[in-house]
Amino acid sequence: FSQLKDSSLVHHSSYIAGQFHSGRSGHFAVHNPADGALLALVAEAGATEAEQAVTAAAAAFPAWSGLTAAERSAKLMRWYQLMLDHQQDLACILTLEQGKPLEEAAGEIGYGASFVSWFAEEAKRMNGDIIPAAKTSQHILVLKQAIGVVAAITPWNFPNAMILRKAAAALAAGCTFVVKPAELTPLSALALAELASRAGIPAGVFNVVTGTDAKAIGQVLTKDSRVAKFSFTGSTPVGKTLLAQCASTVKKVSMELGGNAPFIVFDDADLPAAVQGLLAAKFRNAGQTCVCVNRVFVQRPVYDAFLALLIKATAPLKLASGLEAGCQIGPLINQAAVDKITRLLDQALDQGAELLLGGAIDADLGPLFFQPTIVTDVTPGMQISQTEIFGPVLCISVFDTEQEAIELSNNTPTGLASYFYCRDIGRIFRVAKALEYGMIGVNEGLISNAAAPFGGVKESGLGREGSSYGLDDFTELKYICLGGL
Ligand code: ADP
Repeated sequence: FSQLKDSSLVHHSSYIAGQFHSGRSGHFAVHNPADGALLALVAEAGATEAEQAVTAAAAAFPAWSGLTAAERSAKLMRWYQLMLDHQQDLACILTLEQGKPLEEAAGEIGYGASFVSWFAEEAKRMNGDIIPAAKTSQHILVLKQAIGVVAAITPWNFPNAMILRKAAAALAAGCTFVVKPAELTPLSALALAELASRAGIPAGVFNVVTGTDAKAIGQVLTKDSRVAKFSFTGSTPVGKTLLAQCASTVKKVSMELGGNAPFIVFDDADLPAAVQGLLAAKFRNAGQTCVCVNRVFVQRPVYDAFLALLIKATAPLKLASGLEAGCQIGPLINQAAVDKITRLLDQALDQGAELLLGGAIDADLGPLFFQPTIVTDVTPGMQISQTEIFGPVLCISVFDTEQEAIELSNNTPTGLASYFYCRDIGRIFRVAKALEYGMIGVNEGLISNAAAPFGGVKESGLGREGSSYGLDDFTELKYICLGGL
């Protein structure tokens, strides 16, 4: 961490009740995926520490929720400002533990911080309602109140933003918060805790529990009756397990799970723009995001022209260590990711797909650097079409009619992000309405934004994050019948 201006952002243990705790049961290693170097040994926390964090959050709740919205907002704005002041250091920590290009990491810090400023504003607009009553002697009042302690489990692909998208809304609403970050990327979470402390966010309001026994920590966070709301971002199988666990105490639940995003190129599309949109939507974070394009469908009349442009634009993308200048694609997170992509690709090629570009590791760079890859003749029956690839592999198929493109796109149990390029206004509305997805990019490859509701339908999840709807998941409506008027 010699590159950091402020090395005190690096912590090695959980942050509970305003203190960084030294672990009681050993340490776990955090490695740099670019070169395998040991970055840090972080103290193991387990069920006991998770319980302590919930206790701290429960103790802090009355005072935090009792502040005025303006007071909470001011603290959040201070936290936000500190994130911007330390943007480069936070980005560097993120790239070191996660691998993405430094510029992208700085973008993630800005994106994560934007939720804090957004919800600092929204905190002031947690308005209730007065509803005409059935009797003239009554008023019906509706209040929005903070739900209580919020627990979250977050993934490694956005070690900063996936925490802040939840925490910013929770804290703004008046909730207190416990997060278990992914064990591969705990340092970005702990740096946020350091800045929360500096921002004057009171002890117990924001807690981070780091450990490798996700199951044990997850048991506490999903079953402790003091936790009112559980929010998860991660894979669909784990999400289903956690959703079931939350049933035991009927928690309010948000789930941001996997996707299988289609990208449709219609014959009237602006092809160069579609290529740029596809590169942005596919190769961000080396393809390791839940909104990354998984399946590309190109209408037959423009298929050859589109493919030629795509190969030309993809071939020069620079694969390198995230800290290297000009890097556009960094390493994958670990060997398991490389193995999964290799297996999916090999199966597809065995079943008749054709490899046009890439297809292997760049061994000169290291074992986790997967080349940007293009395969064509991919069919819906192949596993690569049905699985979230989470890597820099573009799977291309041809289609003929609008209806066929819609059916191909919807042929998946998930429904997070989808994209299409076309200029016909009638088709834009028809297709956008027919796609069974929570988010649709029309002539756009990058759609995430603090002002917009992020979330999926079908098995991609429950609830929405960000936007003016984002506070709802962290509040309860209370109806007061005011009689005797
Ligand atoms: P990914 O493929 O992104 O690693 P996971 O769903 O495995 O997706 O992981 C997302 C988060 O869920 C991580 O913080 C991980 O530690 C946590 N996690 C994984 N399995 C469990 C589990 N059984 N109980 C609780 N948390 C879990």
